[in-house]
Amino acid sequence: MEATAIRKWMDERIAQDEIDRYLRPDGADYVNDAEIAELLKPQPAPEAGRVREILAKAESIVALSQSELAELMRVEDSELWEEMKAVAGRIKHKVYDNRIVTFAPLYLSSKCVNNCVYCGLRASNGAVVRRVLSQAEIEAEVRALAGQLGHKRLVMVYGEHPESGVDYIAESLATTYAVKVPTRRGFGQIRRANVNAAPMKIDELKVLHRCGLGTFQVFQETYDRRQYARLHPANTIKGNFRWRIYCMHRAQDAGIDDNGCGVLYGLSDWHFELLAQQAHVLEMERYCGIGPHTLSFPRLEPAVNTPFVENPRWKVSDDDFEKIVVLSRLAVPYTGLIITARESPAMRRRLLPLGVTQMDASSNIGVGAYAAEGGQQDQRSERQQFELGDPRSLDEVIREWAEAGCITSFCTAGYRCGRTGKCIMDLLRTGAEGKFCKLNAILTFKEWLDDFASPETAAVGQALIDQELAQVAKRQPVAYPQLKAYYDRIAAGERDLYF
Ligand code: SF4
Repeated sequence: MEATAIRKWMDERIAQDEIDRYLRPDGADYVNDAEIAELLKPQPAPEAGRVREILAKAESIVALSQSELAELMRVEDSELWEEMKAVAGRIKHKVYDNRIVTFAPLYLSSKCVNNCVYCGLRASNGAVVRRVLSQAEIEAEVRALAGQLGHKRLVMVYGEHPESGVDYIAESLATTYAVKVPTRRGFGQIRRANVNAAPMKIDELKVLHRCGLGTFQVFQETYDRRQYARLHPANTIKGNFRWRIYCMHRAQDAGIDDNGCGVLYGLSDWHFELLAQQAHVLEMERYCGIGPHTLSFPRLEPAVNTPFVENPRWKVSDDDFEKIVVLSRLAVPYTGLIITARESPAMRRRLLPLGVTQMDASSNIGVGAYAAEGGQQDQRSERQQFELGDPRSLDEVIREWAEAGCITSFCTAGYRCGRTGKCIMDLLRTGAEGKFCKLNAILTFKEWLDDFASPETAAVGQALIDQELAQVAKRQPVAYPQLKAYYDRIAAGERDLYF
């Protein structure tokens, strides 16, 4: 594509009226830097009684105010931190039980018009091989993901470029949902395709909504305006801070009510980021009636030919990263928390009991990498945005989770039954969704074990399923007969039965 055509496309991306309509009456944004600076001024640590009051609010599954979150950030006492970690784990259990939802990232394009200083795919990085998958290549990727690895849920990742604009995203979703692959006992298919892409206009988002996308993810990267301006050149689309911070408002207005937010930790002071993200959560509750469906926690990782990530000023240590996850669990108790394979196996093990609800595995972030070379993992750095920390297979990770008492859920029933947006959030807040989800987790885990598990993982997983079935028989006697009937049909090779 010619440079002038690309520039023209870039110049038409931002609809100013789809920013202005969401500003405060005085023209201000929902992230108030002065208020956050005030909250971050040095102050004494809160008394234990006050901390427990805030924890009780979190345990009632209500989002915390920014000042409550700031108080928790000031806790220094290690015993109080242990209490906070325990509450974070209890909240996760109350809302999501012992389920871990799994997914895989699918990178469809590595062409991007932006120039984010920290990103391996920035336009000026000549060290990266660029491509945009054809529909046939997407089909091959999905066949590998759904037919060999057994994934049912994807996060589809697109660079911001005219060759991967909304029409391409829509077509790729249709291609993805159409793939059905025979497996050992049944068939594999992708049942929920989440989209991680650039902010869009409302009309474009309506197109994606009609295509049946799952969650729409846009990470703010940093809410710190000055840092944002330094890292995202002004002559790029991404250089427009406001276009990005109101993208979830536009998604909601387009009918997309499952939205995923996130900060790229390492770009600015994490204390500021968490408080600003909380302003975003509360603004979404105010404007949309619901907060984010998920929060993600990418941390800066090495990327080819990207000096910025080698020694960033705001690098987040492992201990601080653990605090970020615990504070997020407490601050937004109903939301899903995603820790990806950017993190090492040791870090993911450490975070698992602290409120995490979703993790990926068998991940490959090279464009076209799942189907390449007979399905072997392709982690060459010149093909990808950054380098992964956890290259383990889904089979290995699922076995580890099962040994820790966690059931892997491939459930995608919620959005197909209309349990999205405010409906799902209300169910999560009251713990009612957990009842459907546990049943669907058992059914989808059984499917995966029968179709894809190694003998070792099948043995550990089946023992867990047997325990879960016994628990449901005891605790949900009304639902159990239907569950058992579905379970028996799945064991006989039927697929995709859900509540
Ligand atoms: S972070 Fe995203 S928008 Fe920025 S250069 Fe990388 S792919 Fe493009």
